[in-house]
Formats: sequence, structure tokens, C-alpha cells
Amino acid sequence: MNNLFDKFKKQRRPAPQEPEPTHERTIPPHIVACRVCGGKGETDGTVCPQCQGSGRVIVSHEVKTFVTAYVPETNQK
Ligand SMILES: [Zn+2]
Repeated sequence: MNNLFDKFKKQRRPAPQEPEPTHERTIPPHIVACRVCGGKGETDGTVCPQCQGSGRVIVSHEVKTFVTAYVPETNQK
């Protein structure tokens, strides 16, 4: 199973160098039930194209959050 995860890591491109404050979070690949076939492995009597009949798929997420300052307009004095 670890070899499978290493394959996903190699596909990941290097992080871009951006001056803006960003928060990046990577959720590592994990196995979940296929939502196309509902975990059955087939749809309408044919092998599910998404999970290829296993009923499970590997998903991973890359979440990038951009942060900019919020300056309230309070110039009334
Ligand atoms: Zn499926």
C-alpha cells in the first residue's frame, strides 16, 4: 500500500514561489468508497469506470487558502 502512496507523491508538482501569504494543506491519498457506483463496483451491470470494479477509489486533496488583509473603513474621528 505504501508503494501506491509514493506514486501519488511523485506526481505532485513543486510548490510555486508566491509572495502572497497562502496556507497550503495537503490531505494525503486515502481510500474511500466509490461514489459513482456506491461501492458496488458496477453501474447498470457494467464495470464501474471510476473504480474499475473495486468499489473503492483513492482520493487526495490539495487545499490552498489565500489570505489578504481586511482593512475596515473607520476613518471617522
Ligand atoms: Zn465505482
